[in-house]
Amino acid sequence: MASRRIVAVGGSDAGISAALRACELDPDGEVTVVVADAYPNFSICGIPYYVSGEVCRWSDLAHRTLADLTATGMQVRTDTLAPASTCSASGFRCVMPTAAPSNCRTTH
Ligand SMILES: Cc1cc2nc3c(=O)[nH]c(=O)nc-3n(C[C@H](O)[C@H](O)[C@H](O)COP(=O)(O)OP(=O)(O)OC[C@H]3O[C@@H](n4cnc5c(N)ncnc54)[C@H](O)[C@@H]3O)c2cc1C
Repeated sequence: MASRRIVAVGGSDAGISAALRACELDPDGEVTVVVADAYPNFSICGIPYYVSGEVCRWSDLAHRTLADLTATGMQVRTDTLAPASTCSASGFRCVMPTAAPSNCRTTH
């Protein structure tokens, strides 16, 4: 049985980073990313390079493919909107990234 069930809402930089770290820290846990759109882990910062033609294929803006992400052990649910009421209705415990975790090492 999974030791912990973690759901990251959002599949861009923050959500995917959180999910990857959760997989790393708790390999037996069940990590799911819920993402409203169909493009997890895309670099929206790269959009200007696609528009200018410097990047030819929009799909090259993905840091990782869906297959890469699922290979890490996480589940990714694309085209899935988490309603604001999800936490209170489901008994989820919400963890908001308001502070660095106590085991966080800084390099500066
Ligand atoms: C053109 C452009 C250029 C940029 N250039 C730079 C740069 O050079 N350097 C830099 O540091 N930053 C840059 N940024 C900013 C950077 O892209 C953002 O700071 C970063 O993307 C924020 O990441 P995020 O994961 O917090 O949120 P977002 O990237 O906004 O992602 C939000 C995610 O949550 C999902 N989501 C939202 N609501 C729900 C819901 N209810 N249920 C499920 N999923 C949901 C969305 O589908 C999406 O996957 C740029 C942004 C743009 C638009």
